[in-house]
Amino acid sequence: MAVDQSLETFANSLRGAVLRPADQGYESARRIWNAMIDRSPAVIVRCADPADVVAAVNFARAQQQVVAVHSGGHSAAGSSVCDGGFMIDLSPMKGIRVDPARATVRAEAGLTGAEFDAETQAFGLATTSGVVSTTGIAGLTLGGGIGWLGRTYGLSCDNLLSVDIVTADGQLRTASADENADLFWAVRGGGGNFGVVTSFEYRLHRVGPTVLAGLLVWPRPMALDVLRAFRAFTEGAPENASAYAGLGTSPDGVPIVVGILFHHGRPKKARRCSSRCARSDRPSRTWSNRCRTPPPSRCSTRSTRRAIACTGNRRSCAASTTMCSRRSSPAPPPAPRRCQQR
Ligand SMILES: Cc1cc2nc3c(=O)[nH]c(=O)nc-3n(C[C@H](O)[C@H](O)[C@H](O)COP(=O)(O)OP(=O)(O)OC[C@H]3O[C@@H](n4cnc5c(N)ncnc54)[C@H](O)[C@@H]3O)c2cc1C
Repeated sequence: MAVDQSLETFANSLRGAVLRPADQGYESARRIWNAMIDRSPAVIVRCADPADVVAAVNFARAQQQVVAVHSGGHSAAGSSVCDGGFMIDLSPMKGIRVDPARATVRAEAGLTGAEFDAETQAFGLATTSGVVSTTGIAGLTLGGGIGWLGRTYGLSCDNLLSVDIVTADGQLRTASADENADLFWAVRGGGGNFGVVTSFEYRLHRVGPTVLAGLLVWPRPMALDVLRAFRAFTEGAPENASAYAGLGTSPDGVPIVVGILFHHGRPKKARRCSSRCARSDRPSRTWSNRCRTPPPSRCSTRSTRRAIACTGNRRSCAASTTMCSRRSSPAPPPAPRRCQQR
């Protein structure tokens, strides 16, 4: 009862909301991206501002509660939600302010990659974020942060200039190269173990507005050739290109090989390179030193549509050709085939 009374006092002191298991919104607030994680905090504090975070940390410490910190909710291990205890939920905190003159941005912890990009791109600016737009910038940056721009500009944490962070003693501090430098070192890759970050300041770069990107899909029996070609392509790709490949299953159950390609150079250059690759029997020197068959033309909008059609409707699938083959490899790229029925 004493706890309930002090919880009520605590709740009344916040701009945000306190949710308990019987409250509306509790169920959706406790859910995270990994649906296998099914945990129920005793209390969820939906913070509206840094003052709420300070109050939540102080209250949880005074009550000796276990604390889980939640921002974008994409922890695969489920470390942003606890059973019993306190969930400090920063997902409502979505403030963001771009300074185009300094090419920096101050972003609150509740933003997702898509929300962050939308604001910075309004000024033609961007920095390294994840490859999936729904991931939270907070956990991603605190863990390092690998993304499409990483080969050019480094990890998300390499672009971090400062954080505002509430440490376990309930103090809101700024950490940067000049202020609380040890703490700043720790949050750049050390995860969420050093306090609750309320906002991040990043360096931005001029990117876009047009980038060349697309999803490619091949039938699984082509995996060996495609993955060899992928290896050859990535060995020689320029720094403003990134590529991922993997084995998967299409939404309608067809085993597939998936490639995702990205290029943020000048569109003209990427297109010229792709068509040169397409016409040439010889390796292109621009896109990839070892490229025989072009990735860029395969990641055009048209190819992307075809690739997506492949995952959506197995009968309409005429698989794209391979990306590149090694100069030293005598094997020709795999010819396009129809998707195979399972
Ligand atoms: C579909 C998917 C795609 C992904 N793609 C990428 C990718 O492209 N690149 C990449 O680098 N990673 C990627 N990841 C991994 C992802 O970056 C991490 O899981 C990251 O921790 C998620 O951050 P979050 O804020 O969404 O998660 P949350 O679950 O909210 O938090 C994750 C961890 O960070 C801590 N934390 C969260 N917010 C704060 C805060 N404000 N202060 C202190 N600690 C905090 C939490 O306590 C928890 O331990 C991906 C994950 C998924 C599920």
